[in-house]
Amino acid sequence: MISDEKDLYDTRRQARKKARMRRLKRRRALLICAMALVLLLLIWGAVSLARMLFFRRPVDPASVAVPDWVDVQLLDVNPYSRPGTPLTEIKGIVVHYTANPGTTAQQNRNYFNSLAKQNGESATSVSSHFIIGLDGEVIQCIPLDEISYASNDRNGDTVSIECCHPEADGKFTDATYQSLVRLCAWLEEELNLSEASIIRHYDVNGKLCPLYYVENESLWNTFKNDVKAYRKKNF
Ligand SMILES: [Zn+2]
Repeated sequence: MISDEKDLYDTRRQARKKARMRRLKRRRALLICAMALVLLLLIWGAVSLARMLFFRRPVDPASVAVPDWVDVQLLDVNPYSRPGTPLTEIKGIVVHYTANPGTTAQQNRNYFNSLAKQNGESATSVSSHFIIGLDGEVIQCIPLDEISYASNDRNGDTVSIECCHPEADGKFTDATYQSLVRLCAWLEEELNLSEASIIRHYDVNGKLCPLYYVENESLWNTFKNDVKAYRKKNF
């Protein structure tokens, strides 16, 4: 009888032990699941933060409306200066100089448009989205959602700006310079671009363009700081 009671006692004790072990295992499994969930949430949060900080949301160039201080004079669609090729994402702004001292924005725009009349093997292909004149006037030649022929390998993902200049040294007038600052700041803002997105033609392929701001590196840095300051003040 005493032996039976002891067996019963042992059986119950083992059953309690097993139940305790099962509870422990369940708790451990729940804890692991909770930790995995927290880890996943942390990773997701870190990735989202990194995307917010380092990856900018691309803007559809077709959705950007040009301000009224831009004189829109689009070129005729033609193979030599306005091929009509879609530009779906703009990643940079390329600054140029016309290399044609004393010419006006209107003359350069008309020259681009006249290229449409070419035929034959020695045809020239050149254009720009914007031209800034000696008095600071801004002419748009090509819509933002089409490519221009200005920046070699970067025609497919950049917007181009040609600047007029009075002398062969390529230095911009104050009016041209101020309009360039304003145009670059506006483009950066509208296209959600970073400060690093403004480059010279020189930075694409080593061409001495815009000449004065290739030969005077510190003035190019000053220009970029001026764009930054303008953007901070006006947007
Ligand atoms: Zn150039």
